[in-house]
Amino acid sequence: MSVKETGVSYYGLSYPEHAEKDFKEMISHNCNAVILALSEFDIDFWFPNIIEVTKVAKNLGLKVYLDTWGIGKWFGGEPPSIFLTNNPGNRQVSAFTGEQLPAVCFNTKAFKEYFYRICEKLAYEVDADGFFWDEPHYALPKSYASITGGPGDDWACRCDTCKQKFREEYNYKMPRMLTKEVVEFRETNALRILEVASDKIKAIRPASKIVVCVHATINNYYVKENRGYDNWDKVAKVNSFDVFSTTIISYKLPRSYFKSITQQTIDVAKKYGKESQRWLMNYYQEPDDLSEIKEIVHLYNDMGTDSLFAWTYRGGHGTVLAAPRALEMWKMLGDAYGEVLDEKYRIK
Ligand SMILES: [Zn+2]
Repeated sequence: MSVKETGVSYYGLSYPEHAEKDFKEMISHNCNAVILALSEFDIDFWFPNIIEVTKVAKNLGLKVYLDTWGIGKWFGGEPPSIFLTNNPGNRQVSAFTGEQLPAVCFNTKAFKEYFYRICEKLAYEVDADGFFWDEPHYALPKSYASITGGPGDDWACRCDTCKQKFREEYNYKMPRMLTKEVVEFRETNALRILEVASDKIKAIRPASKIVVCVHATINNYYVKENRGYDNWDKVAKVNSFDVFSTTIISYKLPRSYFKSITQQTIDVAKKYGKESQRWLMNYYQEPDDLSEIKEIVHLYNDMGTDSLFAWTYRGGHGTVLAAPRALEMWKMLGDAYGEVLDEKYRIK
């Protein structure tokens, strides 16, 4: 067995004594790690208990990762953004219409400072094992990749800050079309902020493990989804990242797709000396036969994935994104984890 880490994400940050019961339930479902999904509101309002909840998880033997969940609507996730509420500017701008979008432009000074402050505060005060960069992306990614792509697709960001930065770097006006230089510019800047944040975290807490998780999408010769983190080589190469991770895949997709994404994930991770992580969907959508979850977990294990994570605890039970058989799905996931987690990494 190759899997060293099995975990789920978790939303409950309000009361450590309640979280303790949930963490024990995770351990009984063969998890040895948890990702705390921290919204801007959680960080702003529940900060003292984020510290306490982390302590509780650590004391039970779980590894704890902090997920800057949905922050600025730059990272994936449902929570609203306090930064967007408080800042009418600093938003991404559509290249085609010039309209402001409901996502921050992470190239702006105001947002960068805001984000670095959050990371530094978490690194100083919360005794976690690492950070999880959760599906970072520019606004307006292609939601579905057709084989022919589409030259008419809108993109972001073409705000004043990005336009000015582009001119400084390339010495001409930022085009409205997604040219090769624009793609390069977007990718470089999308990585730069995460790299700086990771370095700031490691300067404070050197043992922090940084996991970068990108969308598990088709990026081939014909089509790219233009989220800004589509060039996996470029992402995995970043020194300050320790784990290269790719996100959930719809159960409606063929098993060959699961295999191909996992192979690419492992190959890219190995090439740059990183650990690999694969995600499973454990909310919203489920396979017709729940035991397929076991088959997929075994597939990931057999292929040599280091870490397996599922979104989310209890199959999202009680949320609008719960899987139809959320609790049964959660049980199946736990059983599957039990079959692949290496004996020496189990919490006894
Ligand atoms: Zn911008």
